[in-house]
Formats: sequence, C-alpha cells, structure tokens
Amino acid sequence: MKRWFVVLLVSATLAGIVFSQQAWKPKRADAVRVLIATGGHDYDPEFYNAFDDEAINAKVDPHPRAYSYDMRKRADVLVMYDTAQTLEPAKQKNLREFVESGKGLVVIHHGICTNVNWPWWYEEVVGGRWLFEPVNGKVGSYKHDVDLTVKPAMQHPILNGIGTFKIHDETYKDLWISPKVKVLLTTDDKTSDGPVAWISPYDKARVVYIQLGHDRQANMNPNWQRLVRNAIQWAAGRLN
Ligand SMILES: [Zn+2]
Repeated sequence: MKRWFVVLLVSATLAGIVFSQQAWKPKRADAVRVLIATGGHDYDPEFYNAFDDEAINAKVDPHPRAYSYDMRKRADVLVMYDTAQTLEPAKQKNLREFVESGKGLVVIHHGICTNVNWPWWYEEVVGGRWLFEPVNGKVGSYKHDVDLTVKPAMQHPILNGIGTFKIHDETYKDLWISPKVKVLLTTDDKTSDGPVAWISPYDKARVVYIQLGHDRQANMNPNWQRLVRNAIQWAAGRLN
C-alpha cells in the first residue's frame, strides 16, 4: 500500500475509535428519565457506561444536593449509588413522596448503606441494610477483588439475557436482609451472604437492589450493565 493511504487508514481508524468512545447514544423521546444520586464511595467513570443507552436519559445529582427537592416531576426512576447513613427529614420526605407516588427505585451497591437509621426505608422499601453496629452478633463486612460466580435465582424480566456469569467485584457479608425480598441473583461465594440482587417487598413502587458494582472491573462487565438497564426499565414499568 502507498504510505499516504496507510496514514489515512490509521488516522480514520483512530478517529473512529476516539469518536465512538466519546459519543453518547442519542436518546429516544420516550427514554426513561433517571436521576443518579452519588457520593460517599469513590467510583470510576465507567460506572456511567451502564446508562449510555437510547432508552435511558440519566442526570447525575451528587450529595449533598441529592434528594433536596421534589424529584417526582424530574424523574421516572431514582438510582441510588450513594452512602448517606442519616438523611435530614426534608430529604427523607422527598424520598418518601417519590416512592409513594409509584416512581421506580434502583439501589446499587453501597446504596444499601443509606438511611440505615430509618426502619421504614430499609425494612419496607429496600428490603435490606448495612449493619454498621453489631446486631444479634452480626456486623457488615466487605471483601475487595473477589472473582465470584453469580446465578439467576428465579425467572424475571430483569434477568432477560442474563444467565450464570462471572464478575470481579467486591462482596458484602452479614447484612440485614428482609425475609420478604424476592432474590434475583445469588452466589455461593463464602465471602457473601448469597443474595446479590433482589426485588423488595414494597408494593407502591417497583424497587430493585443490586449489590454488584463496586468499581471499574464490575462496571465494565456487560452482564452488570445489562442488569442495571433492565432494572431501570422494569422499575419504570416498561418491562413486564
Ligand atoms: Zn464498594
């Protein structure tokens, strides 16, 4: 090949790679409007890859501003990727009004550490909480960099396209988990309680908890991304 042609080809390929990495997929007019609350746990930019989808229109709302206004007009689904152990009453009111209005909620990973002093929230809405203090001899623990195998525990639209898969992630153990949750995914790994994703018993809104998703390696896992997207669509009432 002529040298100029090789240079042109390489330049075009590089430009294509750069462009495809930077461009976000255009959003459909009926895309689910998502608010993502962040804070209290570092994370990598690849976390947002899960939301690069034409059917999801996501905005990020970091603490301390998260939950400080009426979210009902601005979002269909709230994603909690945050840790805020105790929220002010005004923020709790906004969260309560959001879920009581039937809007969707997807709590991811360390979101289980938010509102741990609000029994209604963790017992009825999320169906689990982190134990910062010992309860009945149990206290929450975590382990980084575990290669675990995750298996579906039931048939559900959130698991569309998801079979048994491996993921490099952080595991949690000795959480309080409501006996009323419907477990979506489990693992046999000894560093985990077993359930790593569930549907909560809350009946006024669709609520999903996904424990997986600590860092870049988990965030880049296509199964994790699919799980998050499916959970958002189901929580919004679009997936049945
Ligand atoms: Zn973590």
